[in-house]
Amino acid sequence: MNKDKYLSIRTETREKGVTLVAVSKTKPIEDIQAVYALGQRVFGENRAQELRDKAQALPKDIEWHMIGHLQRNKVKYIAPHVSLIHSIDKLSILEEVNKRAAQHNRVINVLLQVHIAQEESKHGFTKQEIIEFVQQERFTAFQAVNIVGVMGMATFTDDQVQVRKEFAALKIIFDELKASVFEDKADFEIISMGMSGDYQIAIEEGSTMVRVGSLIFGSRM
Ligand SMILES: *Cc1c(COP(=O)(O)O)cnc(C)c1O
Repeated sequence: MNKDKYLSIRTETREKGVTLVAVSKTKPIEDIQAVYALGQRVFGENRAQELRDKAQALPKDIEWHMIGHLQRNKVKYIAPHVSLIHSIDKLSILEEVNKRAAQHNRVINVLLQVHIAQEESKHGFTKQEIIEFVQQERFTAFQAVNIVGVMGMATFTDDQVQVRKEFAALKIIFDELKASVFEDKADFEIISMGMSGDYQIAIEEGSTMVRVGSLIFGSRM
């Protein structure tokens, strides 16, 4: 764990009103405890069972964010523990989260993942898909999920101009959704974009939440 780096990123994000999600995936409990001891309370994981196991082992005032691709049959593991799911990329997943949240008498906050990268392999909706499904009748039946914003991942590239363009595109999509289908939703306000390699560009382009792993915890093997 890199304490100085963590503290400097924390100061930088706080000054800008940006939420810092410390991405602890693959890292042991002790590493998370060390960052927790410095005051960090928001952690991100990308595997459902790992999130569940860590949530059970660590203090209850941690906010656990699911940031990775989520399969339908894994939603049950995180439903009692998760405070924000960043990676809703299909209507069927949202439906399952709604079902499991209701079973636990919870309302789970979620972000809609938007496809902004050039890579086909990345997941996510297009803006048009979001507009269409929000207007569907069955969408209004989802009482146990609350959509509070969008998430995006830029193309994995050294081309900073390209990365900036993709973040700017997500900001525009967020603004358009906010002005149209989510017009009456005051809590639709999160733009989750930016990781260790590109979080500063993301903040310049309007990110309100960054997901930083390796800069804080060291590289993953
Ligand atoms: C792993 C991961 C991150 C953090 O990546 P770093 O480059 O280590 O900061 C952010 N977002 C998602 C979706 C991830 O899977």
